[in-house]
Amino acid sequence: MALDMKYFEEMEAKIPVGKVRTRFAPSPTGYMHVGNLRTALYTWLIARNAGGTFILRIEDTDQGRLVEGATDVIYKTLAECHLDHDEGPDVGGPVAPYIQSERRDTYGKYARLLIEKGCAYYCFCEKAESGEDTGDFNRAEDPCRALSLEAAQARVDAGEPYVIRQRIPEEGTTTFHDAIFGDITVENKTLDDQVLIKRDGMPTYNFANVIDDHLMGITHVVRGSEYLSSAPKYNLLYEGFGWTVPTYVHCSPVMRDAHNKMSKRHGDPSYEDLKDQGFLTEAILNYVALLGWSPRGDIAEQEIFSLEELARAFDLEGMSKSPAIFDMEKLTHFNALYLRGMSQEDFARAAEPYIRQTVKDLPAGEIAALLQARCERLTDIPEKVAFFDTLPEYSAELFTNKKSKTNPEVSKAMLEAAIPMLEGLSDWTQDAIHNGLVALAEKLEVKNATLMWPVRIAAAGQAVTPGGAVEICRILGKEETLRRLKLGLDKL
Ligand code: GLU
Repeated sequence: MALDMKYFEEMEAKIPVGKVRTRFAPSPTGYMHVGNLRTALYTWLIARNAGGTFILRIEDTDQGRLVEGATDVIYKTLAECHLDHDEGPDVGGPVAPYIQSERRDTYGKYARLLIEKGCAYYCFCEKAESGEDTGDFNRAEDPCRALSLEAAQARVDAGEPYVIRQRIPEEGTTTFHDAIFGDITVENKTLDDQVLIKRDGMPTYNFANVIDDHLMGITHVVRGSEYLSSAPKYNLLYEGFGWTVPTYVHCSPVMRDAHNKMSKRHGDPSYEDLKDQGFLTEAILNYVALLGWSPRGDIAEQEIFSLEELARAFDLEGMSKSPAIFDMEKLTHFNALYLRGMSQEDFARAAEPYIRQTVKDLPAGEIAALLQARCERLTDIPEKVAFFDTLPEYSAELFTNKKSKTNPEVSKAMLEAAIPMLEGLSDWTQDAIHNGLVALAEKLEVKNATLMWPVRIAAAGQAVTPGGAVEICRILGKEETLRRLKLGLDKL
């Protein structure tokens, strides 16, 4: 079986060189894990920081685990997060295709090349049925490892099913370098002859990632630290082919608590869940960036970073080896800061769907203006503003407030005076209502608060409201305000 060396030469010739090239290589699972989002972010930041190229590659070789529409979730999330990719399945590029299932022939050819080089072998053993490593593989007992290439080839030609395994050296050690974790050395005898090509001809992740990272010219391989233990085997593959090993950047895990990694299966939120819980994409990204990376020097104390600022500041030296604990309260704090930092228009746009969950007709923009400084998550909104739509059942006790010097009797007098004054206003504007109430308080010789308190309670039917009496009355409109104040008066 003469290998067509020209094919490999052509593939080599396509590899872009000279610039930093990073890739985000998700498997299409249907959601974006917080850890994955962070990996995507760091991968993008490394590329942008160096003026390099960011590539999206879809790792779908595990056909049994494919989820309908999952690739779209990846595109949508990256676009929403502004982690734009320069090359990928949807935008193309010089080393297409960028979907592993479309690269199947390539892996097969490289596996055969590796067999020629003596670094892989055909294995016909039944135990390899699943095509995946079971963990109990014992290379000393495997008869296929010792077969001559001719004998193995004859069985392949006869149609016998096989997998292709990596031939790990029996003796010695393998050392690899990681930018975060430093040098790691392992005894080769602890490494298994992992499957590279499964029975169905599909590559394993362990093989495909090496082939693709090389053929796509990836300079920095950024991924979760769960792949650290496989890295020596990847190094042996690079060596077998005679390829340069990329810079490895393994990211420490994102933890739920001191002992457990975050996991969707155990109920921890994915990126989509966090969005549904009312967190802003920008706040999530900013928070996630600081889980495992810290700014240094002049900006060591800075907490709020735009994506552009992160791209400028990001460096491998700032990345941490220790696991990071995901803290919902900290994220909530970031979210509140981001909500406050939005322009009024942007906030109104983001808040409107939440306002509309409980308030049907009143002007959402005006209600949004009351909320911006008072909400930590967008999902807080529907409950906070529901009173605009429906006056809650409330008790007359709310009319008593020590600080405002009100009790039922005082409140009654205040409402009795406020109702005709408001009825007489020809303009229903912030100023008109405000000036009218202030003038009335002066006339009645009471503090403003003594008048405002009962008006606000009667208008809103609850003690804590976004906005004061004047704003609430203005938004409710004259007719509804008067109806509510009269109902309040009836309670007194
Ligand atoms: N497909 C792998 C995952 O989703 C990617 C690992 C890597 O980046 O090499 O975990």
